[in-house]
Amino acid sequence: MKIAMIGTGYVGLVSGVCLSDFGHEVVCVDKEPRKVEMLKRGEVPIYEPGLDVLMAKNVAAGRLAFTGDLKSAVDGADAVFIAVGTPTRRGDGHADLTYVMAAAEEIARALTGYAVVVTKSTVPVGTNAKVREVIARTAPEAEFDVASNPEFLREGAAIDDFMRPDRVVVGTTSERARKVMGEIYRPLFLREFPILHTDLETAELIKYAANAFLATKITFINEIARLCEKVGADVKQVSKGIGLDGRIGNKFLHAGPGYGGSCFPKDTSALARIGQEHAAPMQIVETVIKVNEEVKRRMVEKILDLCGGSVNGKTVAVLGVTFKPNTDDMREAPSLTIVPALVGGGARVRVVDPQGRREGEALLPGVDWLEDAYRAAQGADVVVILTEWNEFRALDLARLAAGMKHARMADLRNVYSPQDARAAGFEAYCGVGR
Ligand code: NAD
Repeated sequence: MKIAMIGTGYVGLVSGVCLSDFGHEVVCVDKEPRKVEMLKRGEVPIYEPGLDVLMAKNVAAGRLAFTGDLKSAVDGADAVFIAVGTPTRRGDGHADLTYVMAAAEEIARALTGYAVVVTKSTVPVGTNAKVREVIARTAPEAEFDVASNPEFLREGAAIDDFMRPDRVVVGTTSERARKVMGEIYRPLFLREFPILHTDLETAELIKYAANAFLATKITFINEIARLCEKVGADVKQVSKGIGLDGRIGNKFLHAGPGYGGSCFPKDTSALARIGQEHAAPMQIVETVIKVNEEVKRRMVEKILDLCGGSVNGKTVAVLGVTFKPNTDDMREAPSLTIVPALVGGGARVRVVDPQGRREGEALLPGVDWLEDAYRAAQGADVVVILTEWNEFRALDLARLAAGMKHARMADLRNVYSPQDARAAGFEAYCGVGR
């Protein structure tokens, strides 16, 4: 199959690289010349483990190429994937479809023969029908179908998720489009990963429902964590105790500083808007959004409490600022709420993050970036674990504590135990929900 992938962000680039690894001929397109130049040089503009190696392999095999010229990529393609951003529209929480619709128009002008235009971006119910309208209006002669193929990959584990998905969801309206999509995902089908064929609207909604459910699960355990703190229970054991129940499952039950990232915040708020528009309010999801904001603010209070009520004039070492480990993505990271609150409270903030600096420098003004957790903690009044990167999971706590002015730890990912921290010489420790 010949495939054009429009957009080379986390989803477009990973999907393009993996589809070329399936044996398809893939051309990835981006409108940002800087990204295209990097990709042509063999550099990966994002941090995603394993992506550089897989990309180089498929470029060398002649199956994968990059361009800024959408027209040449779409010419002769069997399928054109739209993988552009759908951020939150300012002011109303809706998904901003400007990029999707602009891409659809450009694709329409570039189509030369039958192709399936596949939306991989996360889009509200009804968007694929609008994409079809836009293409038909822009190029009335064009021969095409639309398909909805939402993506479920997780940053940090994206290649494995794409190659070994729990399921692939494909929404189509014609047998011809279904065949093309079946051919594209044949390697997965042969390996018996489930492929769910649906109509367009169902596929669109599956993606939002999945993300909203996961965000709800995280928020639920964060609320339970708060109660644990009040009643003297341990949320880690509560999580284990409920997660062992097969009906509940143990994933997404880690109490922490609230969900963030490029998807959950915008997708929950888009789903809430979709519900309002269709007079089917998503009351649970609306509450989840509100509670998650409170969770982030509560983390600031925890740090202040640990420091005797104020961080004014104190030195805070923050370990991890990306929204989760193994990514450089800072979008909606809890650190973007917590760190500015500390800086605003008069703290000198030092930050260490294995990959977050490139994005984070502009987003977190007024902090010092260091390379090493022990140096950051040297002379500090409190150390805050905000993202559980591997290198922060096995710190020599005694060494860390020994260098600090006041050995206090706010472990917002529950990496360590209060007992470990105390034994290592920390005078004060707080986790989440324990
Ligand atoms: P991103 O912002 O990282 O990348 C989007 C890319 O598209 C950018 O490089 C941009 O320059 C490019 N682009 C925009 N318009 C273009 C056009 N007309 N022609 C060519 N290139 C164009 O976005 P992302 O994180 O990859 O997300 C893309 C979509 O996938 C979103 O809808 C998102 O919700 C969804 N999604 C993301 C993830 C994730 O983990 N990031 C997971 C599942 C689904």
